Amino acid sequence: MLQFISICSGSSGNCYYLLKDGYGLLIDLGISFRKFKQHFSNYGLPLAQIQAILVTHDHTDHVKGVPQLSIDFRLPVYTSKLVHTSMMRNHYLSKKVPAAQQNPYERGDAPLQLGPFEIRSFAVPHDSADNNGYVIRVEEKCIVVMTDIGHFTPEMEQAAGEATHLIIESNYDEEMLAHSSYPPRLQRRIRGERGHISNAETGRFLAQHLNPERIRQVWLCHLSAENNQPAKALATVTEALEEAGYAPGLPGGLKVDPLPRQTPTLLQTL
Ligand SMILES: [Zn+2]
Ligand SMILES: [Zn+2]
Repeated sequence: MLQFISICSGSSGNCYYLLKDGYGLLIDLGISFRKFKQHFSNYGLPLAQIQAILVTHDHTDHVKGVPQLSIDFRLPVYTSKLVHTSMMRNHYLSKKVPAAQQNPYERGDAPLQLGPFEIRSFAVPHDSADNNGYVIRVEEKCIVVMTDIGHFTPEMEQAAGEATHLIIESNYDEEMLAHSSYPPRLQRRIRGERGHISNAETGRFLAQHLNPERIRQVWLCHLSAENNQPAKALATVTEALEEAGYAPGLPGGLKVDPLPRQTPTLLQTL
């Protein structure tokens, strides 16, 4: 049985969890370890089942709790060398991942086998030291994670086409951002080639690059608190998918769900 839960998603913290036959794989941990422990105990999830931590990039909303979890449970952390190095220099992190637990995994390396999960990474353009997307194969499923997306690349198109389950950023509504209180410089950073991606851009990308024979579930992640609303993200993406012939929301159709920012989803069986 393969299970998934999103613990949190957005600029105040990101954390996703995959569990297969007692092997837990954590993807990012961008909230405090204390908060994380609370969520896990509320859901009756044993921390001892976590076997490894996979990190996308070095921004604090993705790594805040990583060092403490790695120290307390002697857990290996996997990400590219650039991200490891930048985490060591991140002064928002009072604790550091112990050297023995820092496992470099680079794009183009042979697939990483972590328990039942076979993993490879791809580049995602963003204004961090580096940013990794992941293709995670387990059972006959393929879970793809791409977040904090400045713009889409052919490699990301290919990864999306492999997905049966896709976690993808849908950061902002273009109109809400244009009318927001954000200063123009910050708006430009968000819209920029190394910033974040809008609902409309994500909708167009999904309509073109998902494989209708494979895809079953899309989770929209990293929604902005100020410049987006779950209903807007869902409506924009759904409209693009419907135009491309998908039937999101209908029985047997593709499932699309925005992930809540602060509260965990239910633990769901994939
Ligand atoms: Zn982020
Ligand atoms: Zn980021």
